[in-house]
Amino acid sequence: MTPIRPDLDALPAYVPGRAIPGAIKLASNEVALPPLPSVLAAIAEAATVSNRYPDLAVTSLTQRLATARGVAAERIAVGCGSVSLCQQLVNITCRETTDEVVYAWRSFEAYPIVTQIGAAKAVTVALDAGFRHDIDAMIAAVTPRTRLVFVCSPNNPTGTVVHREELVRLLDAVGPDVLVALDEAYREYVRLPDAVDGLDLVDRYPNLVVLRTFSKAYRLAAVRVGYAIGTPEVATALRKVGSPFAVSTIAQAAAMAALDAERELLGAVEDVVRERVRVRDALLGLGYTVPPTESNFVWASLGERTQPFAVHCLEQKVIVRPFHPDGCRITVALPEENDALIAAATSFPR
Ligand code: PMP
Repeated sequence: MTPIRPDLDALPAYVPGRAIPGAIKLASNEVALPPLPSVLAAIAEAATVSNRYPDLAVTSLTQRLATARGVAAERIAVGCGSVSLCQQLVNITCRETTDEVVYAWRSFEAYPIVTQIGAAKAVTVALDAGFRHDIDAMIAAVTPRTRLVFVCSPNNPTGTVVHREELVRLLDAVGPDVLVALDEAYREYVRLPDAVDGLDLVDRYPNLVVLRTFSKAYRLAAVRVGYAIGTPEVATALRKVGSPFAVSTIAQAAAMAALDAERELLGAVEDVVRERVRVRDALLGLGYTVPPTESNFVWASLGERTQPFAVHCLEQKVIVRPFHPDGCRITVALPEENDALIAAATSFPR
């Protein structure tokens, strides 16, 4: 006998991107540049009071986000990264093993994990032929047992976006009894005018909750801060189920300093937006199938050649992220790092 839940045996483990000394890491959609000096200074300052517990209510950062995003502070819940908020969303919506969580597949690999940890039932909806969310199929997958729908835009790992009109259609179709979580971890990289922006819709739809993070454009992946914006009821529930003190003093201070430096951080995003076009065009020119990306990564649809491609890149000291047998997700980083990836893709036998 064991006290451990037997269903956890089937739980897919989160596979972190590999880190190999001397290799170029394009496996985790991180930003290649370090945090800004002003942010590092705020972290050092905050570290001096590490003997004290953090502000449980995350008061200053929540207030600062409320001002920056133009929503009431009571509608914001800050978490230990947005992946933690994904788990909290399952926990606040699902109670029975028959409760359903709908999401596209392939999408962010945490969705199946948080759904299973929450002992809910995963309902997956295949991406369409263009590697995009199939919103009509997702609407069709919603049943009276559906509690939560994850929508990832831009979608990790394919980089495609959901259009505003598509999300509106979904929100209208599912009605008030289903919570729709729009995961916008990569929103800062979106340039397509038709793409959804959750903050434009969150006032109109009480069944919408928007997830954002400081891990990508704000360069704080290791510091662990994300936030959700929804109704006060959703935000309150999310705070209730979060681990106490999950957002450290260092995280709160770093996020505030990053917001102070937002203009500079978002300015650097432009370099990635330019580079992603160059990387995609190069891969297309080599004959790879790569959908247009609105994010800081590209998706190479490789089928059975996924794992061999990843191994080949590794031999060239470039780490990409294989999702065998679908494709590889490749982070767009600094120009010379992207050059190394393009060189590896060029020498891969096709
Ligand atoms: N959502 C998506 C789509 C992601 O790709 C990631 C990070 N890989 C996250 C959420 C989680 O980000 P974090 O927990 O670092 O905020």
